[in-house]
Amino acid sequence: MSEPSQWQVALTHRCPRCGTGHLYRNYLTIRDECEECGLSFAEHDIGDGPAFFSITLLGFVVVGGMVVLEEIWRPSYWVHAVFLFAALAILTPLSLRFFKSYLIALKYKLHHMNPSP
Ligand SMILES: [Zn+2]
Repeated sequence: MSEPSQWQVALTHRCPRCGTGHLYRNYLTIRDECEECGLSFAEHDIGDGPAFFSITLLGFVVVGGMVVLEEIWRPSYWVHAVFLFAALAILTPLSLRFFKSYLIALKYKLHHMNPSP
C-alpha cells in the first residue's frame, strides 16, 4: 500500500494515506476519518486555501477567455454574461473540490514528513 501523490488525491478525492477511503462525506464536507485506514481528517483543516486558489485561477481563466472572445468575435454584452455565468457555474465546483483535496493531501504530506513534537 503506497501513499498516493497530492495530484492523485486531488483528482480522485481519496484518503492521502491509503488512497482508497473517501475524503468527502458529501460535496465539500470532509469526513471525520478515513473509513479504510482510520486517518483523522479533522487535524487537516486548510481554511480558505481552496477558495483563494479557485478565485485566483478562475479569475485568470475566465477573464482571459472573455478577452480572447472579445478580440476574436466581438460579441454583445449578453454573450459575455452567458459565457461568464456558464464558465463560473461549471468550473467553480470542480476547482473548489480539486484544490481542497490537493491542499489536504499536501498538508498531510508536510505534517507526515515533519511531525510536530
Ligand atoms: Zn485512508
